[in-house]
Amino acid sequence: MSVEYEAVIGLETHIQLNTTTKIFCSCKADSWDDAPNSNICPVCTGLPGVLPVLNRKVVEKAVLLAAAMHAEIQVLSFFDRKNYFYPDLPKGYQISQYDHSLARRGYLELPIPASADPNGKGYVRAVHIHKLHIEEDAGKTKKERNRRYVDFNRCGVPLVEMVTEPDLRTAEEAGQYLIRLRQLLRWLGISEGDMEKGNLRCDANVSIREKGSSVLNTKTEIKNVNSIDAVKDAIQKEIERQIREVEKGHAIKPWTLDWDDNAGVLRMMRSKETEADYRYFHEPDLLPLEISAEWQADILEGLPELPLERRARFMRDLQIPEYDADILTADHDLADYFERTIGLYKGDVKKISNWLMNDVLRMRNEWGMSMSEMKLTPAYLAELVQLVDEGKINITTAKNLLPKIQESGKNPRTLVEELGLAVVSDDAAIRAICAKVVAQNPVEVKSYREGKETLIGWFVGQVMRELRGKADPKLTQQILKELLK
Ligand SMILES: [Zn+2]
Repeated sequence: MSVEYEAVIGLETHIQLNTTTKIFCSCKADSWDDAPNSNICPVCTGLPGVLPVLNRKVVEKAVLLAAAMHAEIQVLSFFDRKNYFYPDLPKGYQISQYDHSLARRGYLELPIPASADPNGKGYVRAVHIHKLHIEEDAGKTKKERNRRYVDFNRCGVPLVEMVTEPDLRTAEEAGQYLIRLRQLLRWLGISEGDMEKGNLRCDANVSIREKGSSVLNTKTEIKNVNSIDAVKDAIQKEIERQIREVEKGHAIKPWTLDWDDNAGVLRMMRSKETEADYRYFHEPDLLPLEISAEWQADILEGLPELPLERRARFMRDLQIPEYDADILTADHDLADYFERTIGLYKGDVKKISNWLMNDVLRMRNEWGMSMSEMKLTPAYLAELVQLVDEGKINITTAKNLLPKIQESGKNPRTLVEELGLAVVSDDAAIRAICAKVVAQNPVEVKSYREGKETLIGWFVGQVMRELRGKADPKLTQQILKELLK
């Protein structure tokens, strides 16, 4: 009988916080567009005699994340020196938090959709984190024409490190965790969460065991993966490799593996026999970090309703389907836009959801802007859909109006008047056109009268063409049926 295996996966994530300045000095933190070594000073390059000063914004953003992860925020935490030598670390140590970190325990919830649930019901699964701490980033080295260069711009950029418990079981779940984490970071406005730009980084620990067993076997560590798809790909390949090794009777060795994105393969970086000794000790140049109850309460006033809570509320209170709720809560701006629109609209909220998901989002992506930058405001969208509901314009006209509203910034009612787009619902005007169409098409009239009643659609089409699509379709059909009797 063949053995069934399951994977045991833990993720270590580093999140670059989007503060204006670095964690211990006033250098600019975001150097993405800047020349190497242009945002550095004696503090972040570790010159003798300098003193670090903690950036309050770093603590505030980290506390928001800890609260959103349902973690226990510590009143007192300490900074420690993690000592090691590397060319991108000019101080010779990294200021981090070791055994007294900012927050402990906590979890991130992953909604498992009904389609991915073997029982077809869908559920929420919690992925636990062990701890959450703040630290400074190191610099970068870069190889060019056989020389290795060093760039200290990234030294001292604030990071939050979070390590999950080995709670994940599949590559797909690991991907889900990162998608939800990225959503949360952007929702809270504390990080861009972009793996390609390195402001969200992820290492994965992977081991396998017989399904149902509770042992933790030797794990390998996957490093240098820079997209969510690559994380999934790398984990899946590593699970398959470990199963092949075990089935051949080989033991899994505690390797560190490097993901080669171009080739889509894992390469062994080094075998990891012992943990490095970083000789941690409390940072003597910084006071313990004390987060008083008042300060914490102040920070948490800025904690918004979280994406999953909002998603659940949309489904429960507004009777919005799971699929819609997922899309509408993908980002904070969009969820706000939706709620503002339905607040102004008198009708079925699902209609607004459809307009947003189909037409407005497509337009937003084409124009490459955020919801809050759109000239098509919630008030205008509500008005536009209302005009359709009132029969003032038809749906095609409404869809064509969207880009016109966006270009002109004018409200839909004004545009309908200016452009003469209102539906013709004047009985006499439509009747005259219908009579003309009937008179001009004797062959079709004969077929219709002999029983080919499906031709009614064709007649409506002719009238519509005459009136450039603005005839009230119900009224047109009614008049045509009378005339064709
Ligand atoms: Zn600096």
